[in-house]
Amino acid sequence: SKPLILVLGDQLSHDLPSLQALPDGAVIALCEVADEGRYVPHHPQKIAMMLAAMRHFADELRARGLRVHYSALDAPDNTQSLVSEAERLARYYGCDEIRVVRPGEWRLWEAFKAREAGPLPCRLLEDNRFYTTPEAFAAWMRGRKQPRLEHFYRAQRRATGLLMEAGAPLGGKWNYDADNRHPLADAPPLPAPLRHAPDAITRDVLELVAEHFGEHFGRLEDFDWPVTRAQARAELADFLETRLAHFGRYQDAISDEAPRLFHSRLAAALNLGLLSPRETCEAAEREYLEGRAPLNSVEGFIRQILGWREYVRGLYWTRMPDYKRGNHLEASRGLPSCYWSGDTELHCLRRAIEMTRDHAYAHHIQRLMVTGNFALLCGVAPQALCDWYLAVYADACEWVELPNTLGMVLHADGGLMGSKPYCASGKYIDRMSDHCRHCRYDPKRVTGTHACPLNALYWHFLMRHRDRLASNPRMRLIYAGLERMGEAKREAIRQQAEAFLEGLACETAPRWAGGD
Ligand code: FAD
Repeated sequence: SKPLILVLGDQLSHDLPSLQALPDGAVIALCEVADEGRYVPHHPQKIAMMLAAMRHFADELRARGLRVHYSALDAPDNTQSLVSEAERLARYYGCDEIRVVRPGEWRLWEAFKAREAGPLPCRLLEDNRFYTTPEAFAAWMRGRKQPRLEHFYRAQRRATGLLMEAGAPLGGKWNYDADNRHPLADAPPLPAPLRHAPDAITRDVLELVAEHFGEHFGRLEDFDWPVTRAQARAELADFLETRLAHFGRYQDAISDEAPRLFHSRLAAALNLGLLSPRETCEAAEREYLEGRAPLNSVEGFIRQILGWREYVRGLYWTRMPDYKRGNHLEASRGLPSCYWSGDTELHCLRRAIEMTRDHAYAHHIQRLMVTGNFALLCGVAPQALCDWYLAVYADACEWVELPNTLGMVLHADGGLMGSKPYCASGKYIDRMSDHCRHCRYDPKRVTGTHACPLNALYWHFLMRHRDRLASNPRMRLIYAGLERMGEAKREAIRQQAEAFLEGLACETAPRWAGGD
């Protein structure tokens, strides 16, 4: 056979199954298409990172002597959609089938699946870059009423032997999160970031993106993402050397100044295929085994990749397409306009949005407990919030973004991602960050003009969802606190929250939103 091997923008790995044992005459196609750049308004840094990485990868394939067709975004014959571009190229080169590895989105998976038995058949291959396959995950899920990350993670530790000795977890515990909740107050100085100077290929891409996608939310100026495997390896080495040892302790801390802190910033390179999760976890494990990083950091880091990253992917592929329609709390508000403008007096929210705009990055706790928590408390519709997260982060791919946003942040999957919503008041932000001292609101007040809006919104959220949440054993203490408050205080909170919500500018609620 003479296949057209379609390599998608997040499959830039030489170990990809479709690139093994290539028959003579195989043509490898990489396609930049406008459709993929625009179905949500992706951050210009995200688009530039992917296009620059694709162009570098195509050059690496050519250097290996392989036949590569590269459809550039501004090529006159580019049909600007992935499926039509693959079909056009297959016909052009006289190929008799299209081969593609499982894409990162259900939408594309369905489009290729529908063509499996067509006149120009599409052959879908399983992605081997993960620890688990969707099939193996589905088998693990079978018969489990309440799937939990912790159970899945332990099974993964046993299967891989990472941080294990004689069938038991190193150090005697599976999880060291109790050591991992320190605010930054006692942290050492932050290491200087490794910079990647853009080469000629990347500079061309930056110009192209400024021209075609300059109107999207997000600054392009400080573009600094790794776009080759060599750069991604350098980023990993730098993380291991300068940040991993402190990763655990300050994992949940938030800074008014610095977006990245002791986080790895490796998600984008992992998702593009420039780094493999195996080499990343094994390298982190080595740091512990050789005495350079403590167990709480290394275990915490490995859990994110071996645990969470695989778990969300498994949920995505076993629960789609219904997963995307989940709206357990019947939230219907449009996205607050400040998510695009940064125009809000809540200082924590403004800083998270500004950092996102400037770097196409925010760390997990900013996503979960700042932009996420605010949207949860305000009742933002899942699809409105998911589209935002998918657009604005360099590492955003639907298979990982959707379970995190719809499931973990909005509790819209009814509890698959977390047994309770991660709702929090202003006091949490004050404990974990230095935002509040720059804010016009007071995190200790619940009502009145100086009160932090998150406080009234928090209790209002709990009151609105009492029927669904009060019986949750993990929420009982919180609801007991609400009961003790007395009706007059509850009424004052209700009025405070409702006045805030009335004044909150939001995009018009989209058509698909359920009733609230
Ligand atoms: P680190 O803190 O250094 O963590 C190490 C690695 O662990 C990450 O690079 C990532 O690969 C993995 N990881 C950590 N947490 C998670 C998680 N919850 N789920 C899956 N993998 C995880 N991650 C994405 O890769 N793409 C997304 O589109 C994405 N959307 C998110 C949306 C929301 C609302 C939330 C709450 C989280 C989202 N995450 C997403 C997970 C996580 O926030 C990012 O992976 C992380 O912030 C990336 O920064 P980092 O590389 O510095 O991560």
